[in-house]
Amino acid sequence: MTVKGHVLLASAFAYPIIDYVAMDYGNSEALAIYIAIIFGSLLPDIDEPNSYIGNKALLVSYGLKIIGVRHRTITHWLITPVLLSAFGFSLDNFYISAILYAVAFGILLHDVGDMLTKGGIYGFFFPFFSNTKIALLPRVLRFKTFSIQEYIIVFFLLLLNAYIYFKLIYNTRGFLF
Ligand SMILES: [Zn+2]
Repeated sequence: MTVKGHVLLASAFAYPIIDYVAMDYGNSEALAIYIAIIFGSLLPDIDEPNSYIGNKALLVSYGLKIIGVRHRTITHWLITPVLLSAFGFSLDNFYISAILYAVAFGILLHDVGDMLTKGGIYGFFFPFFSNTKIALLPRVLRFKTFSIQEYIIVFFLLLLNAYIYFKLIYNTRGFLF
């Protein structure tokens, strides 16, 4: 999935959480959680130097390549957000824990996006089913990254985001205003 697809998908799924945090904590907290989710949704592709985030962190992406990390492996596996959340859970600082949960959630949403593509994710449940490709839909319903189908999905995700965030900003709770 392209970077636009990942960001828009994560942004749409983040909506109920952002709405809840804005209501119960505040707008700046909601914004921090939103940024953390979006950041998480970009993070797994750090294993690919040509990706948006890999290109911004070439030292890390080439470092991962040099030590033999292949694309769509450990940074995409379920174990990564699980360990990140466990680390967040072990901390005493509520805010840092919340940010780590949000990053982990963003990583999971990235994985959802990739599991909607033809490629899926090999070994997603590592160390279980290590040689199994995990995907979310039958192959015929999945799309290729950069394909016209993906751009159509991205277009609808853009509309969905515009709708839900317009509602969030202008709703009666006065989020952001
Ligand atoms: Zn990916």
